[in-house]
Amino acid sequence: MSNFVFEEGRAYAQSLDQSDPMRSFRDAFHHPVQANGETFIYLCGNSLGLQPKGVRGKIDQELNDWSTLGVEGHFHAKNPWMPYHEFLTEAMSKIVGAKPSEVVVMNTLSVNLHLMMVSFYRPTSTRNKIIIEYDAFPSDRYAVESQIRHHGYDPAECLIELKAREGEVCLRDQDILDVIENLGDSLALVMLGNTNYYTGQFFDMAGITKAAHQVGAMAGFDCAHGAGNVNLDLHNSGADFAVWCSYKYLNSGPGSLGGCFVHERHADNAALNRFAGWWGHNKETRFGMRDPFDPISGAEGWQLSNPPILSMAAIKASLDVFEEAGMENLWAKARKITAYMEYLILGLNKQDIQIITPKEMSRRGSQLSIQVKNADRNVFDRITKRGVIADWREPDVIRVSPVPLYVSYEDVYNFVEILKTEIA
Ligand SMILES: *Cc1c(COP(=O)(O)O)cnc(C)c1O
Repeated sequence: MSNFVFEEGRAYAQSLDQSDPMRSFRDAFHHPVQANGETFIYLCGNSLGLQPKGVRGKIDQELNDWSTLGVEGHFHAKNPWMPYHEFLTEAMSKIVGAKPSEVVVMNTLSVNLHLMMVSFYRPTSTRNKIIIEYDAFPSDRYAVESQIRHHGYDPAECLIELKAREGEVCLRDQDILDVIENLGDSLALVMLGNTNYYTGQFFDMAGITKAAHQVGAMAGFDCAHGAGNVNLDLHNSGADFAVWCSYKYLNSGPGSLGGCFVHERHADNAALNRFAGWWGHNKETRFGMRDPFDPISGAEGWQLSNPPILSMAAIKASLDVFEEAGMENLWAKARKITAYMEYLILGLNKQDIQIITPKEMSRRGSQLSIQVKNADRNVFDRITKRGVIADWREPDVIRVSPVPLYVSYEDVYNFVEILKTEIA
């Protein structure tokens, strides 16, 4: 349902690359190499983004400062460690569409999800339900279930799963709103993965948040597959909180730190329960040691520990690439290259391949989930042998993501050619 018009053939793919304003960014990344010396076609940026070439220099800087300055690096490093997280805030807030005061880089995703639920899931005997997706990411489900139990409630009663209609894979917007409305006063929190990791469906956060607020519930989103991928527009969505990781589309390295958004309406809300640590305390008196906890206004007030600088240095290198590229440019290429991939796959005209990701560009990012009927893992393994790094999800889905920063149109063309022969 894209309004792009594409043509077939390799020469056309090459012409798209030549006129691609983002093409120079491909060289800003290291590309994994096959045994035969050729680079892989890397379509797995939804799982682990490639390494920006600037990472090593940024980490070396901190290693050097640590070796020459020791503890003094907290104040005298080229990028002082004491406020290091602040160097990430502005770029990160642009990526997710938030005000800088609403964003902080800290911890990892599942940890942040728990911290946010400590504040935004405060169940009572009558209002205690949480909505998640039926096919929610396992970690999200564990986090939510354990929070329900932590408060002495039963997940069998309090966990409400949104399931697609019979014969459908994606959720309909209206069905989500209906569930929220029907739960009414009993609903405490809506917590959806946004974008869904399996189908690639990007939910209407603003609509869902509005519906949640109308029944007096909170709305929070796990944006692991959205950050750096789709236009999240977090502030305007009105969401109460959001969490994400930085190692998927944000290319910051395995297990790197996550991000956290707290809407500014909660910036100074002392009534919100929270787990506290010294890094969330007023910077002026942080070392006073005897002062009662005095949270920093905004998202920073949820920090616990002094953060790992080496991991933050990698994030800084990655954010520099996003700053240079510009989010509008990135989204524009994401829409086009994803639509191009969709066009080529549909052009294969294979009965046993179906794209389960929404067709509307406003309801997806740069991931396509391809369902291969009657497939087993062998198909996927053969594709991998041919030099494609993608991602297999049981029972029969191949997830591919033509990440706009480093995937070329010719990569996409080559991938679909390989798919064609291996699915024969
Ligand atoms: C990747 C991902 C996670 C991973 O959580 P970590 O705490 O970073 O290990 C959690 N939830 C979703 C939806 C994800 O996509």
